[in-house]
Amino acid sequence: MNNFTIRIAGIDYKITTIDSKYADTNMGKMRADTDEIFINSSLGYHARNRVILHESIHWILRNAGLDDHVENEKITSIIEAGMYAFIRDNRNFIMNNILESELGAWNFNKGVNDV
Ligand SMILES: [Zn+2]
Repeated sequence: MNNFTIRIAGIDYKITTIDSKYADTNMGKMRADTDEIFINSSLGYHARNRVILHESIHWILRNAGLDDHVENEKITSIIEAGMYAFIRDNRNFIMNNILESELGAWNFNKGVNDV
């Protein structure tokens, strides 16, 4: 995975992989003060994607004032698992309706199996 940025709530965060020996037991970590998300380099493809989604959800919840760490972690893990599956299972709907709708191409007739 090359370094890249992801935008969360209007802020661009640099995604960086770090050697697992420096990651402690963390799969990933977000540093809001430096606009960075670190991902343990030992993770596989899906785990890395889920970490990015996970840290993004953490930040969205914190911005909404839900900063109780224990509660936030529980909610984040539930949403992360559900949203990752939703995104992967509904790729065509998302591409054809949610993303294209920004260009004025709203089309409910295109579903999960349509290209
Ligand atoms: Zn977490």
